[in-house]
Amino acid sequence: MTKSKKMTIIALTCFLMTVALSIVASAQDYPWGAEETAFFMGLGLTVCLILIIVPLVIAILACIWIYKDAEKRGKQGILWVLLLILAAIFLSFIGLIIVIVVWLAIRPPVGGEKKEQDRRCPNCGRSIPMDAKACPYCAKKFEE
Ligand SMILES: [Zn+2]
Repeated sequence: MTKSKKMTIIALTCFLMTVALSIVASAQDYPWGAEETAFFMGLGLTVCLILIIVPLVIAILACIWIYKDAEKRGKQGILWVLLLILAAIFLSFIGLIIVIVVWLAIRPPVGGEKKEQDRRCPNCGRSIPMDAKACPYCAKKFEE
């Protein structure tokens, strides 16, 4: 079961419990009336929203962002999403922030890992190392 499914079930359970409690409270002769019941229902929903839905949305947005950013930079997006989810499960928001900061620190530039830079000998046209002082093929010396 994915995290989002789990969270949805938790949110739904919270919501149903709030509704059930409100019904029980109004059916029995509790000291509070309809207005208070409505207030507690609203409070329950607000708590659901703040505690579950908002972090869930933030986590999903973070997953989407890290996936797209990783793929754009030639990395396995799904691995980073898994890392993000694991960190979020074990460390909550701190884990989320740690993974994002680590990713920002180590991510390669857009377009994937830096490709072997292309430098060609002006004399023979063959690919030569960037720091070559002379062409390894035709022995032409470069001066700068
Ligand atoms: Zn050459």
